[in-house]
Amino acid sequence: MLTNRNLIEFSNIKSLQLSKEFKEGSLDTKDLKANDLINEFSQVIEKGIATNEDLSLLEKVGPRVTKLKFGNVELETPIFMPVGTVGSVKSLSPEDVYSIGYKIILGNTYHLNLRPGMDLMREFNGLHEFMRWPGAILTDSGGFQVMSLAKIRKLTEEGATFANHINGAKITLTPESVVQIQEDIDSDIQMVLDECTPYPATHAEALSSMERSMRWATRARSARKKLNRAQFGIVQGGMYGDLRVKSVKQLIENNFEGYAIGGLSVGESKREMRRLLSATIPWMPHDKPRYLMGVGAPDDLIDAILLGIDMFDCVMPTRNARNGSVFVRSSSSANGKIQIKNSIHKSSKEPLDSLCNCYTCKNYSRAYLRHLFVAEELLVFRLLSIHNLQFLFDLTYEMRESIRSGNIFENVSEIRRIFAPGSL
Ligand SMILES: [Zn+2]
Repeated sequence: MLTNRNLIEFSNIKSLQLSKEFKEGSLDTKDLKANDLINEFSQVIEKGIATNEDLSLLEKVGPRVTKLKFGNVELETPIFMPVGTVGSVKSLSPEDVYSIGYKIILGNTYHLNLRPGMDLMREFNGLHEFMRWPGAILTDSGGFQVMSLAKIRKLTEEGATFANHINGAKITLTPESVVQIQEDIDSDIQMVLDECTPYPATHAEALSSMERSMRWATRARSARKKLNRAQFGIVQGGMYGDLRVKSVKQLIENNFEGYAIGGLSVGESKREMRRLLSATIPWMPHDKPRYLMGVGAPDDLIDAILLGIDMFDCVMPTRNARNGSVFVRSSSSANGKIQIKNSIHKSSKEPLDSLCNCYTCKNYSRAYLRHLFVAEELLVFRLLSIHNLQFLFDLTYEMRESIRSGNIFENVSEIRRIFAPGSL
């Protein structure tokens, strides 16, 4: 189990410069355009939020390998983090998740507070002991639920009041109560309560929502009692680059242990997401982890890693698995995925992905997995989830090793072709 815990320790192992590659025009892809980075930056200068001297920040933008240390648990980024909303990565045991190689997972403050509740959590000294998870835990704050449960909540300066989705009883989440809940969960990384700006929103709506999130972030920062656990601030600002820059600048004043980008992957196009990442990342501190929330599609991971994101989470790999949708390398399917229920797999002795070393691919045929899926056997959820999580683990591993060896710019088209052929 995790021992000797203290504040997250961060070290930067290798950073590369993306702007140089962009200037040479060698890295334009369908969604990630060199000009977006430059254009977004010029706009904030025009709006008076930045000056020409800030242009030097652009030179620091690029992919990097970093090390995060939580007591005796160490991991390297870029890393994907599996989502275990209510204390379980759906259909998998903690051992399954750990044996793939994952050392950090997510839990959700809103859901865990409702069930099993904090009395039980305190009795077990937190979620690590309760679910017997040996790695680190990051807890989402409930900000996403503030948006997704919009129909049943009331938002005020104090916080968000919900009729909860289990029995309809009213609960109020405030920046302070969310810190308290996360301290009861004893997460290694707490996220502050924010308002995930609805999409679409006007500039004025996004501004007012972002400013409230920034006031909530400051309140959350001063509400902590356990000062030896990390707390991350969340950048908001909707689809507006200038608001994102303002948001980062305000957050930095609170000196969080890391910074996340929230409010993306909410319905905008992929190009739009990359444009907003380009607007935000140059301003994020280089000596702190950067986390892109709710993003897990292979092509999104690749482009965001190139721009300097370290951490990701998404329910996609496990949710897709439960729907029979499997990520595979291009050598196993031209568009990068297969639907296991399709009759083409009916008598296939092939593994899901011939280059994958996961437990499922080492042991089982597509025909057997399809049979389990069609017969609605529960085992299939576990086997497909193991594979999908291994796939994203392998993708981030390839990116990480290419960054470490300094070859990422030469290798990225090949990594994209292998792991995200559907996006080409
Ligand atoms: Zn596999």
